[in-house]
Amino acid sequence: MRLLITNDDGILALGIECLRAAADPLGEVTVVAPDREQSATSHSLTLHHPLRPIPRGERRWQVDGTPTDCVMLAIEALMPERPDFVLSGINHGQNMGEDVLYSGTVAAAMEGLALGVPSIAISFAGGDLRADVTQLREQVKVLTPLLKHLTSLPKFPSKTLFNVNLPPRPAGEVKGVKLTRLGRRVYSESVAPMKDPWGRPIYWIGGGEISWSGEEDSDFRAIEDGYVSVTPLHLDLTYYDVLQGAGTWWRDL
Ligand code: MN
Repeated sequence: MRLLITNDDGILALGIECLRAAADPLGEVTVVAPDREQSATSHSLTLHHPLRPIPRGERRWQVDGTPTDCVMLAIEALMPERPDFVLSGINHGQNMGEDVLYSGTVAAAMEGLALGVPSIAISFAGGDLRADVTQLREQVKVLTPLLKHLTSLPKFPSKTLFNVNLPPRPAGEVKGVKLTRLGRRVYSESVAPMKDPWGRPIYWIGGGEISWSGEEDSDFRAIEDGYVSVTPLHLDLTYYDVLQGAGTWWRDL
């Protein structure tokens, strides 16, 4: 089995090292990852300058581009044969609810799927990574069996990527795996007003308070309860309920 690994935290991130450790027992791993952090770059593609892959060992490249660039470059150019799976992560921080719309980690898996390769995004739902380094390393034990299962399904669901979040606790205290749907995330005070060195107003997006809401079967509830969360996602954003109820809001024009 051929596995392509990428991430959005950059090739030097601890998370990608852990994902590699988790995936190595499953097959031949190729790593193609950004040369620096690309978190929250979503599905952006570099069109206005060329990409220069630099080899960093056997089947390992760093690329001066986004996670999406990395997946496209790996599949279309760098790998002699197409991968059987794209694995993206382990992201330093959760990707639950609306996070998946901003996430470079999830976007890389979306790109894999768009190119016809079954894909899995993996994120570690820990807050302060400096404090969580041990827990992140420990997740390898949790992740290998899960990846083994998902990559050996008799039929990987079509048009689907799996969004996996790992709970911030020691591997021995992870309660199990739950299938979930996306919850809702609410940011408050996420734009911080500041002054630049010349006293002019600037704004820094980030920080603030994050709160979550969602049903019993939502991703954040699973994480809160100490489970690994697995959410199937697909690329079709069509809102079928509204389309099917079009009689109430649409008329032929
Ligand atoms: Mn990231």
